[in-house]
Amino acid sequence: KGPDPDLVAIVERMATVKHKILVLSGKGGVGKSTFSAQVSFALADMDYQVGLLDIDICGPSIPKMLGLEGQDIHQSNLGWSPIYLESNLGVMSIGFMLPHPDEAVIWRGPRKNGLIKQFLKDVHWGELDYLVVDAPPGTSDEHISIVQFLQATGIDGAIIVTTPQQVSLIDVRKEISFCKKVGIRVLGVVENMSGLRQPISDLKFAKLSDAGDEIDVTGWALNHIKTNAPELLSMVACSEVFDSSGGGAAKMCMEMGVPFLGKVPLDPQLCKAAEEGRSCFADQKCGTSAPSLRRIIEKL
Ligand code: ADP
Repeated sequence: KGPDPDLVAIVERMATVKHKILVLSGKGGVGKSTFSAQVSFALADMDYQVGLLDIDICGPSIPKMLGLEGQDIHQSNLGWSPIYLESNLGVMSIGFMLPHPDEAVIWRGPRKNGLIKQFLKDVHWGELDYLVVDAPPGTSDEHISIVQFLQATGIDGAIIVTTPQQVSLIDVRKEISFCKKVGIRVLGVVENMSGLRQPISDLKFAKLSDAGDEIDVTGWALNHIKTNAPELLSMVACSEVFDSSGGGAAKMCMEMGVPFLGKVPLDPQLCKAAEEGRSCFADQKCGTSAPSLRRIIEKL
């Protein structure tokens, strides 16, 4: 039996892609797609040729986060054309293929597997410095497919996004263990929505923290209760939420022997940039998260 023709086609297609990076998370809602989108914007800003592939079949949010909702994919004799935001930033997502963005996609494993295969085989990216793949949360059919196909072409590794809470970190451990089992290098873990940095211009919290200092949101809440309303302490049933803030991911990385890439603070400007489908780096009022994101990207 000869080699699988699909795999041969994927290897051929991916031969023009220098670096492939998978973005994973244990849970949904931790900022994985936001991170994938902003990393792509940043790499494109640095003049790299970038492709962003969204394989979150059941919840594709990349079109919205890049301001590309409602776009259609075109086909040429070279394959499916990505949607270009800039000449050096192309995007491909299942979201472009759905007739109604609010329609649920209920597909079984083989169909998802087929679509991922097709994405890798038929999208005409051309020469790319980076292909950033935004995966769904967890470790499901899509992950097994993408890993199986990309491994045949060589993959740099995976970045895992988490929040500082224990509930998220438990699932990150599973994600790291998945990567180890399938032989994918963990490029590192990013702790997102980690604390809140006080913007210099915003003095609302000035009494609580000096401008520019980090406010540990959950820890701050606990200290605030301790100082101002100790009688309420007994009512804080879920102390884990308070105790788990800050540094959780770094410690876990040490334990599991994987790199810690850094923290990204909770930043309303980043949330706004994602909602409006734009880069958080270009904005003059650029949020407190941009420097942290930049430092992480420089480590890649
Ligand atoms: P996931 O891909 O993990 O499901 P998303 O990237 O969709 O998560 O992010 C969930 C929400 O959180 C989005 O509204 C996004 O804009 C917001 N968000 C992500 N990271 C941050 C952050 N550091 N600060 C503020 N909001 C954030």
